[in-house]
Amino acid sequence: MRRLFLLSLCLMLCLSGCKQKTEPVYFFAMDTVISLQLEGDDGRAADACKVLIKELEEQLSITDENSVLSALNRTGQAVLSEELTALIREGLAASAETDQAFCLSLRPASKLWGFTDDTPHRPNDADLTAVRPLIDDSKIILNGNTLTLPVGAQLDLGGIAKGYAADRLNELLEEYGIAHALLSLGGNIQVRGGRTDGAPWRIGIADPDGGEYVGSISLNDGAVVTSGGYERNFTEDHVVYHHIIDRTTLYPADSGLKSVTVVSERGARADALSTALFVMGEEQALAFCRAKGDFECILITEDNRVVVSDGLKETFTLYNTQYHYE
Ligand code: AMP
Ligand code: MG
Repeated sequence: MRRLFLLSLCLMLCLSGCKQKTEPVYFFAMDTVISLQLEGDDGRAADACKVLIKELEEQLSITDENSVLSALNRTGQAVLSEELTALIREGLAASAETDQAFCLSLRPASKLWGFTDDTPHRPNDADLTAVRPLIDDSKIILNGNTLTLPVGAQLDLGGIAKGYAADRLNELLEEYGIAHALLSLGGNIQVRGGRTDGAPWRIGIADPDGGEYVGSISLNDGAVVTSGGYERNFTEDHVVYHHIIDRTTLYPADSGLKSVTVVSERGARADALSTALFVMGEEQALAFCRAKGDFECILITEDNRVVVSDGLKETFTLYNTQYHYE
């Protein structure tokens, strides 16, 4: 699985950066393959990025019992670092504006589904019903840097952590004077300054069915984040269950979409909204995108249509004829 992912990542990077001078640096962190193409870096910026990712991982990991997040989930209260406070603030804002389609407090349900364990499985409905009252972001209290959760409530930051990390890396590159870069954290892409030859970065949009890229977009600066049920799932009794949970059912979102890609200035916002739009489904996602106006999206539907928001129509190119783009 990991090898397959690495292969597709290499293809993607080739799509976006074949003619660049600097070779990408690859490593595994935050439960995914990370690649950093930092033009003109002598290795120092890449090393600093690795240190930063490690620091963030120590705070944000849900599988590491020693992480700040795990401690918060155990005790229900914590004084957070500035960065974790900023991340949760951003998450709460996304939650509020999406009517909790993006939901931070899903952990009691996502834990029952077991996506971060070796043996994910369909929970029994009584267990899901029992945790339902805990899953409500309006009950999270963030007062300055002090976060307080209702008794038993827990956070799952998996829908925003990588996008937030990409933003922090981007800030770090500013400090190191790296003007042109392409960062990839799993499905989260962050580009900076276009390519060294003056052309924009070209970013492939993955085929949710694992085939050739659906298409590509061109972008100089910003974040491109894709969410999809294909990224993490399991099959039980011939039914596929994926990892993006609809808070209203506590089951995997069944909104008629295979994937959602959000393009926005910042990674954290693109990440939170790609998850939220996936839960919303086509109609609501497009209406929300139009109403907000500060991000763009590409929706791939279960009947293989590619729906592109107005601001991306000029830059989107379709490659894969399995899909229909009007
Ligand atoms: P992404 O790949 O960004 O869409 O994030 C999916 C991950 O976010 C899952 O693996 C969970 O950790 C978490 N998650 C699942 N459903 C939601 C949701 N509705 N809102 C926020 N986070 C979610
Ligand atoms: Mg997300």
